[in-house]
Amino acid sequence: MEIKEIMLKIEQEDITVLQEEVKAQFDNRQQTPLGFVWRKKHYEVLQLLQTKKEPAGQISYLVLTDGGVFKLVLVRENEETVCRSKWVLQYRVNVELKEVFQNISREAGPAPAPPDPVFVEKLAGIIPGPENMFVPLELAAIANYHGHLCPELAVGYRAGLIARASLNLHRRNAHEFFVVAENLSSAIDALQYLTGCTFGNQSFYAYETGKHVYYFARYNQEQVLHEALRISLINPLIDLSPYQPIAARLCAGKAAPEEVSRYHRAISQAVKDILNLPEESLFTQKVVSIRRPQPFSRHAYSRCARCGEVVAAFSIVAINDRPLCPVCAGREK
Ligand SMILES: [Zn+2]
Ligand SMILES: [Zn+2]
Repeated sequence: MEIKEIMLKIEQEDITVLQEEVKAQFDNRQQTPLGFVWRKKHYEVLQLLQTKKEPAGQISYLVLTDGGVFKLVLVRENEETVCRSKWVLQYRVNVELKEVFQNISREAGPAPAPPDPVFVEKLAGIIPGPENMFVPLELAAIANYHGHLCPELAVGYRAGLIARASLNLHRRNAHEFFVVAENLSSAIDALQYLTGCTFGNQSFYAYETGKHVYYFARYNQEQVLHEALRISLINPLIDLSPYQPIAARLCAGKAAPEEVSRYHRAISQAVKDILNLPEESLFTQKVVSIRRPQPFSRHAYSRCARCGEVVAAFSIVAINDRPLCPVCAGREK
């Protein structure tokens, strides 16, 4: 089934009218709905098929989800001066999900027609697998930010989703939380993007133990110890060491074409498994007590008396009454 066939079904009113208010998550940056909860089930948006401004002024979104094709409308209600908005699930298109998947995938040729479909290999570059792979829009955005879609990124994404569901940790309330990671891998890009806790805003901390272990905690100024959700990866499916020789030949530009595609398929499969396996076969979870690493106050700065570069006050070393940056202080000694 092609997108225009879905449009035809809508035109012929081959739809199931719902008209139910739903809770939806919306990504302001991308201006797209990411998912919604309907009849207690969460539907993840995999592809935005069409955005339209309706005659009455509302904006409607035709979305392909993991549970079918739906039309979602953002309705604004003007109650005198207060403007309230709500999401209404207008209808579901009577179409088998399997049909849509098969054929939209096939449409994703070298020149996809707008609206730009979000496909892994388009974003990833490293995963031009034989079959197209649909990923949730939010993960596509993360892959775009990170530069590619790799197994570690998928691990961070899954761990972040667990934290979101168990602690209600979202970008909008990120300032109430902090996150600690035991590695410096691609996963931490996914986690920063997903949670809104970042290195820059000093609510993300990471050190390398080589483990995919993550702590998520709600910050309380009055406490030293914080209750944290500890999530650790126990499934070794991210191990791609059997492909290391191919990767080395690939870097040297000496890999045979069939080796390259074997390597890509292995990565693609690892990503798929990480995205599809149930939580309990990927991670263990427990609640532990942790301290929040000390954030630095970065309001005070001076210029180094030797090199003239600006340096934060907490790093200044005074030698013979001269304020020096740590590098110059080392040279003076
Ligand atoms: Zn990566
Ligand atoms: Zn200096």
